[in-house]
Amino acid sequence: MPKKTKRHLFKLARFLISYSLKTEKEKVMMGYYLLIGLIILVSWYVSHTLKSKFRKYSKTHLQNGMSGAEIARKMLEDNGIYDVKVISTPGQLTDHYNPQKKTVNLSEAVYSQRNAAAAAVAAHECGHAVQHAKAYSWLKMRSALVPVVSVASRFSQFVIMGGIILMATVSFGVGQMVLLAGIILFGMGTLFSFITLPVEYDASNRALAWLKAENIVTPQEYEGSKDALKWAARTYVVAAVGSLATLLYFIGIFLGSRD
Ligand SMILES: [Zn+2]
Repeated sequence: MPKKTKRHLFKLARFLISYSLKTEKEKVMMGYYLLIGLIILVSWYVSHTLKSKFRKYSKTHLQNGMSGAEIARKMLEDNGIYDVKVISTPGQLTDHYNPQKKTVNLSEAVYSQRNAAAAAVAAHECGHAVQHAKAYSWLKMRSALVPVVSVASRFSQFVIMGGIILMATVSFGVGQMVLLAGIILFGMGTLFSFITLPVEYDASNRALAWLKAENIVTPQEYEGSKDALKWAARTYVVAAVGSLATLLYFIGIFLGSRD
């Protein structure tokens, strides 16, 4: 084979290899964008359904006429919890349990209204208070992570961006090191969003079991409360999966930068 042909063949082979590598990467990137698009779509669908479910079950008025606040106080009492206050907090979907202040914070509507959706939310937040009182391990782990994760997630995006910019401008692998640090910080947030899942499902299970056992709701009202809480929990699942997909994307950038 003449030397010239050999050289051409070698060039062609090199081109084909680089081309196939490029399309592989492009394939991966396209797959990633498809996944993110899908997650955004599912996330929109879940939050849209959640809102419509809450609208629907807000019209299911409780036969016993109890408000969210009354239900919350009864559930705490029934569980032997006397040091947690039930208070009203402004806004919509702002309901939460504060373990530091030991307060069940119910949004204005949930606090005062007397329907299946309000009963579900009020009992769910008390479910967190019960977890706290019983030192439920997933809640303990989640609470321990809160200070670390709040700092880590505030900086992770900046560190990752800094790493990517440094990778494009400075050699010696400085950018890669910074990117890796950012990925670790971001990963803490992802871990946190997964630890949140058992905490949320358990709070809902405690709420529903109590609502049923104490006959706070009728069987028909119970179905409404259960459905509302099911969709509320799904928003946490979507958030966790979205965080994991983003983490994998950053890991992909990191691994790709090393070829
Ligand atoms: Zn919750």
